[in-house]
Amino acid sequence: DAYLNAIEAANPAINAYVKVTADKAREMAKASDARRANGQAGALEGIPLGVKDLYATEGVHTQACSHVLDGFEPRYESTVTANLWADGAVMLGKLNMDEFAMGSSNETSYYGPAINPWRAEGSNANLVPGGSSGGSAAAVAALMCAGATATDTGGSIRQPAAFTGTVGIKPTYGRCSRWGIAAFASSLDQAGPITRDVRDAAILLKSMASVDEKDTTSVDMPVPDYEAALGASVKGLKIGIPREYRIEGMPEEIETLWQKGIAWLKDAGAEIVDIELPHTKYALPAYYIVAPAEASSNLARYDGVRYGLRVPGKDIADMYEKTRAEGFGQEVKRRIMIGTYVLSAGYYDAYYLRAQKVRTLIKRDFELAFEAGVDAILTPATPSSAFAVGDESLASDPVKMYMQDVFTVTVNMAGLPGISVPAGLDAKGLPLGLQLIGRPFEEETLFKTAHVIE
Ligand code: GLN
Repeated sequence: DAYLNAIEAANPAINAYVKVTADKAREMAKASDARRANGQAGALEGIPLGVKDLYATEGVHTQACSHVLDGFEPRYESTVTANLWADGAVMLGKLNMDEFAMGSSNETSYYGPAINPWRAEGSNANLVPGGSSGGSAAAVAALMCAGATATDTGGSIRQPAAFTGTVGIKPTYGRCSRWGIAAFASSLDQAGPITRDVRDAAILLKSMASVDEKDTTSVDMPVPDYEAALGASVKGLKIGIPREYRIEGMPEEIETLWQKGIAWLKDAGAEIVDIELPHTKYALPAYYIVAPAEASSNLARYDGVRYGLRVPGKDIADMYEKTRAEGFGQEVKRRIMIGTYVLSAGYYDAYYLRAQKVRTLIKRDFELAFEAGVDAILTPATPSSAFAVGDESLASDPVKMYMQDVFTVTVNMAGLPGISVPAGLDAKGLPLGLQLIGRPFEEETLFKTAHVIE
């Protein structure tokens, strides 16, 4: 009830929830009380969570914040949310996001932007919470849930976490099942939590992660007790500082934040080493070929027949065209156009195949650093703090918006785990985050190191 009241009070201004499932929440909470009374409490018993609208929730409207999925009520539950409910968590509702998770500001949502609860000092202007998991981050930051599910294809967990002073982890590709999460770019998509602190992230990820026969890319490895890793010493841990992340035009205060993070870890006994990740500068352009290519294929299924919206036409082809023209927003259409272009005969070799080769080189950069003994890599999470809703220079130039992902996409391209942890405020009093990147399936290293920084 406390959380439902908080949502009622704060959501009209913040627009983090696109659907509140109050009746379901009370029903789940009651069942939770009963289990507790019987001494059968699960790991998350009674913990109220918000769910990104990309996750299919059985009998609950699921739309990926796209007009094209109007009215879609799945008859199945995503594996990740099913895992959370099996551990006793309670669902509060569905959270706002960029349409089909394409964006870095939550402004491409069919429901309009979620608003960052933070304000710059001396200003009352609305700021974006980041994206695509903007609703998840805003809801956690505004205390409208105890934690939230999110997804990260190119930074959509870590960038919103950095913009809202929350913690977000994208686990290793394969850690969580993607089953029942609307696919954007299947080789990059991963589920993960956004929470108030590192401990909560550790607890939620433990519950979300599992091998799943319905997702053959999920990995059959024991899920460690991440919480147990917290408080362990980072003494002797080798932390790599990649020079290529010192990009041109990066604000001074991002550099200062990075130096602070380095000093904190050094003080805690970690060994700081300079490393090279020479293919970093190709990651963003390669990502914006691979991700749209996969998206154009994945989004072919929204044809007016199988799901949601149908706009009648004079024949079936006309119906497909009208449904897709009306159902998808501008950014999604841009991705479909880019994706079909780079996959088309004649351009496939020049763009898609090349981007895949670049991807292999990016992955190799990280492997070489890890083979040389580096345990984790420290970088800024974003090139700036939260920007204004409707920022003209970003709205008019999609490439500028894509630059938001410059520090985060490498991790998805290489399939590695990455965490964003709040590390201080900028001159305007807005939160900034640091990112830690780890070896495959070594999320524990990230949790214990992030815990030193928070
Ligand atoms: N901003 C990136 C994009 O628009 C990342 C999105 C994501 O991680 N889902 O593709």
